[in-house]
Amino acid sequence: MSERIPVKDVTPVKVHQPDSSNEAIRYSSNNRIYVRSVSGPLETFRRYFGFIFLGLFAVLPWITYEGQQAVLFDLAEQRFNLFSLTLWPQDLTLLAYLFIVAAFALFFVTTFAGRVWCGFMCPQTTWTYIFIWLEEKTEGTRNQRIKLDQRPMDADKFVRKSVKHLAWLTVALLTALTFVGYFTPINTLFLEFFTFNTGVWTTLWVIFFAACTYGNAGWMREIMCTHICPYARFQSVMFDKDTLTVAYDVARGERRGPRPRKIPYSELPSKGLGDCIDCNLCVQVCPTGIDIRNGLQYECINCGACIDACNGVMEKMNYPKGLIRFSSEAQLQGGTTKVLRPKLVGYAFVLLVMIGILITNFLLRSSLEVDIRRDRNSLYRETNDGLIENVYTLKILNKSQQHRQYQIEVEGLPDYRFTGDQRVSVKGGEVFSIPVSIATDAYNLLEPVTEIHFKVSTETEEGESVSVLEPTKFLYR
Ligand code: SF4
Ligand code: SF4
Repeated sequence: MSERIPVKDVTPVKVHQPDSSNEAIRYSSNNRIYVRSVSGPLETFRRYFGFIFLGLFAVLPWITYEGQQAVLFDLAEQRFNLFSLTLWPQDLTLLAYLFIVAAFALFFVTTFAGRVWCGFMCPQTTWTYIFIWLEEKTEGTRNQRIKLDQRPMDADKFVRKSVKHLAWLTVALLTALTFVGYFTPINTLFLEFFTFNTGVWTTLWVIFFAACTYGNAGWMREIMCTHICPYARFQSVMFDKDTLTVAYDVARGERRGPRPRKIPYSELPSKGLGDCIDCNLCVQVCPTGIDIRNGLQYECINCGACIDACNGVMEKMNYPKGLIRFSSEAQLQGGTTKVLRPKLVGYAFVLLVMIGILITNFLLRSSLEVDIRRDRNSLYRETNDGLIENVYTLKILNKSQQHRQYQIEVEGLPDYRFTGDQRVSVKGGEVFSIPVSIATDAYNLLEPVTEIHFKVSTETEEGESVSVLEPTKFLYR
């Protein structure tokens, strides 16, 4: 009996940890990261992507639909308008499913391509790049900014710094107003804010979000990504040897070092040189200030700036591009990247199931909701003509955005008398309360408690009938 148990390599992906003795120096206030601007396909892609998201963020709250703000999380009215759709607190499960879908989409993308969300879509990155761009426009290139910070305050430095902070504050304030505009009607918000007529709470929220934007994108920057954001800490759990991350090809790059440009590429091995000319450009363009040549690091947000920078250097040196590239650990070790692997397929499967559940719930969502409250003051009463009467309050919630007529009927009680309006009209997105009483002869009541149903029905503009059957009790004795 010498049968061997197959062994599977489950060594986790190694994530380089920074030298903790350097941490204090690295994050001290006088050790700022001066990000150098870079150009290349990934940078262009991020810019366009950023413009689209920024444009959507800025424009969406200004769009009106049927006379109302199309996208509005109205906290005061407890409803969420999304074009023709109105979501109520009763639809919270939809929101929960949406969050689950978003979480699994993030797991899937992270397992497949690392922290690309951080590098290309995260608002922190987008706003940081806007602030860096403004910094460059007011204080100059990386080297000019370093020199400016080193020299004592003079008139030129004062003006440049003032203009930069003014620009940052303007962007922060516009961002905050736009964001708050998703929760309160945006045109009145802008009007009231700039005429000093906003309420205390609205003003405080605008100031709070403006301060967060100014602080996060202007001052905190990479500290948010490396120390505060929890995603940075747990993302490596999702990584495996086939995850595509920004990586430096050690085998190709080492031994790094400067060399005259005239050495032909084919002669590098004979001189004991790799492809890396140790120009440090990949470090200078990195928004988190790391050296990707040290290996995969949890601070890396997969923004690809170092890829663009290094490819530019390789082009100038007449070397093949891709010394730093999106690659997997398996590929760097000479193997191939497995796309179809159990973990990724598992995430994709759960993601598809959750999307299916979300869509089904969304399609099955009724545009009508009915709530019934019994009169708590009396169980029942006898009318002058000897009938047994129960009193209820019906709440009809019209979840559509159109004005609708509703018909109210009772099921489960023979020969009843209905007192109150049996036809009511409710505006789109409104709740209508209506007191009604039901009376019947005692001979019809076989039990002290009879299960009955209120049926509320309507017809949509498309001719589709919508009805809700809400159970309640009819009491006697
Ligand atoms: S190492 Fe490269 S990809 Fe990672 S954050 Fe820095 S520049 Fe971006
Ligand atoms: S940009 Fe490329 S060549 Fe320059 S130091 Fe970085 S890896 Fe080496």
